Amino acid sequence: MAVALGVVAKALFRAPTGTRDILAPESARRRRLVSVFADLAERSGFGQLESPVFEDIGVFQRLGAASEIVTKELFEFFDKGDPPRHLALRPELTASVCRAFAEHRPTVPWKIWYSGSQFRYERPQAGRYRQFEQVGVETLGTDDPHADVEVIGLGMRFYEALGLKQVRLLVNSLGDADSRPAYDAALAAYLQGRRGELSEQSRVTLERNPLRVLDSKRDQDQPVIAAAPLMVDFLSGASAEHFATVRDGLDRLGAAYEISPRLVRGLDYYTRTTFEFAADALDTAQNAVGGGGRYDALVEELGGPPTPGIGFALGVDRILLACDAEGAFAAAPTPVDVFVVDVAGGASAVVLCDRLRQAGFGVDRAFDGRSMKAQMKRADRSGATVAVIVGPDEQAEGTATVRDLRPGGGQNRVTQHDLVPAVAKLLEGTTS
Ligand code: ATP
Ligand code: MG
Repeated sequence: MAVALGVVAKALFRAPTGTRDILAPESARRRRLVSVFADLAERSGFGQLESPVFEDIGVFQRLGAASEIVTKELFEFFDKGDPPRHLALRPELTASVCRAFAEHRPTVPWKIWYSGSQFRYERPQAGRYRQFEQVGVETLGTDDPHADVEVIGLGMRFYEALGLKQVRLLVNSLGDADSRPAYDAALAAYLQGRRGELSEQSRVTLERNPLRVLDSKRDQDQPVIAAAPLMVDFLSGASAEHFATVRDGLDRLGAAYEISPRLVRGLDYYTRTTFEFAADALDTAQNAVGGGGRYDALVEELGGPPTPGIGFALGVDRILLACDAEGAFAAAPTPVDVFVVDVAGGASAVVLCDRLRQAGFGVDRAFDGRSMKAQMKRADRSGATVAVIVGPDEQAEGTATVRDLRPGGGQNRVTQHDLVPAVAKLLEGTTS
């Protein structure tokens, strides 16, 4: 390193396209958001699953050859093995969860929650990144519609816990193996009949997966989509009953939801219940703050026993944008309670910071032997309630001056031995 200094022109590196650094206090706010979610999930009987950030590419290919996530958005690579393994960074977590289920065969129902980064090669824009974070839950091993209600209800309560008021819940049923083929055929026939009116992209989608045409947000496609046959009219008796029980459960929870008969989702694996949470405070192109549904064949696709599942993934980045737009879930104030100002060489601050931190206080200090004035300025900016000041007199006496930084606050000198109780007394009743 030192050798290169001043010799080689240094490159200015930036975070790769579609990624970004998340600095404090935003990073602390995200962590807090995840912990609100974790708490809610664990109180609902979901245990955390931590799975690898990359998997055999085959795991994700099971998501369906017609889904954009697989065809266009995968970050894939080969490792250094002999022969090399074909791997991919996870674009979502449901496939990994099903892979883990097939691998470990836990007792059912298996209720897990997760959080972590996902990777998709997308065109970056506000609320759309190449690395983004999701939290989610999955319940595997039951197709009880009340499990669907539990999952959807958890999502709803999470947004409420954050203080979001403008999140709408959209639900639909995509039918099961008994009802889908007839619908798919009817939809394909209808779309083929109006093919000429569709946008060029939707005509391409039509060849691969007619259902996904319904997901187009392009204006040109809207009249065609608006008149398309609806899945609800094709549901088998069993699917219709399942969907009715889900709706009834949501009613019992007092959930405000909209039946959205054209709601289809980006992944091919969904059957029966599908849902999405839309944040009205965000632009429509990126207003999906979460979504999920039932997938009754994915575990089997990954080599496990036939196992139904239901789950959702929520986009942390977009949820925080929605919070910003609604003025909800603000970043917490700094956790610094005490700022130690040492103008007698700094060695006292080493010990006093340690002692106060061990006593459980949030404590910060300055470095580089700054002047009293400069250090007091830092103390003010730190958000601390109390300054502990050590000058040459205090150092000689083994004391410290404890100053209440609040308006009208006084100060007094205590022995360093009595510092912790003196600070505790001042901070009584304040929370950090
Ligand atoms: P979209 O239609 O906006 O592309 P999606 O259907 O691809 O979303 P899912 O696969 O259902 O999204 O992922 C669940 C959630 O993850 C989304 O509702 C969204 O909040 C978030 N999400 C998805 N892709 C991104 C991304 N590239 N950047 C940020 N958040 C994302
Ligand atoms: Mg997408």
